[in-house]
Amino acid sequence: MEMTPQRWSYTNAYLRGVFGDQDEQLRTLMMRAVAAGLPDIAVSADVGRLLMILASMAGGNAGARGARPKIGVELGTLAGYSGIWIARGLGEGSRLITVEPEPRHADFARREFAAAGVGDRVEIREGTALEVLPQLRSELGPGSVDFLFIDAIKREYPAYYREARDLIAPGGLIVADNVLGAGNWWIDESPGANPDRDGADEFNRLLAADAEFEAVAVPIREGVLIARRQG
Ligand code: SAM
Repeated sequence: MEMTPQRWSYTNAYLRGVFGDQDEQLRTLMMRAVAAGLPDIAVSADVGRLLMILASMAGGNAGARGARPKIGVELGTLAGYSGIWIARGLGEGSRLITVEPEPRHADFARREFAAAGVGDRVEIREGTALEVLPQLRSELGPGSVDFLFIDAIKREYPAYYREARDLIAPGGLIVADNVLGAGNWWIDESPGANPDRDGADEFNRLLAADAEFEAVAVPIREGVLIARRQG
């Protein structure tokens, strides 16, 4: 069956229609964010649900973690939309550290996390991913993060992987959005034309070649990579 542009649009609308159910706060969150001047670049509801399910599965059961709480890290908070899905998936007693350099985004997201009832488990770290990841390495130590969601600067994805790799716990997941495309590029374009395309391509290949991880990219929306650390 040929994948025409029409069929691709229909498929995405179908996925959102069937799997995109969400509560009133999540349904209106990005409308309120856009009205407040934030960009409309959050994940879709079906990707949000995927993040919630993956976060709930990441890192195995409490016995496998010993006494430590389940820990998630998100790179790129924006308005808190994906973070709410992830925090709900991680569950009560967990910790989500979400990284955002724009104070306006962080302030908006902080209010949304509180309204969603997950404010007690979410910490917004204001800074860039490449500033905060080294801090997390010394604060949390190796093998301490059960779920990492990458959704910041696409050309920096390989650097995020290098900085975050040792943080991931056995059985932990790395999940990344936009590994096949974004608004102004797609993975089929020639190397060298767009640094974001090249960053995503290099990132995909790094995970695929890492013997410690099992990785796959799912062609939902603009492509979501899911990689699980062995053990
Ligand atoms: N994950 C969010 C969601 O789906 O609800 C969307 C994140 S949006 C695509 C990218 C966010 O990354 C923006 O809020 C942007 O301000 C932030 N950002 C920009 N540069 C960054 C950097 N160097 N490190 C971390 N985040 C960055």
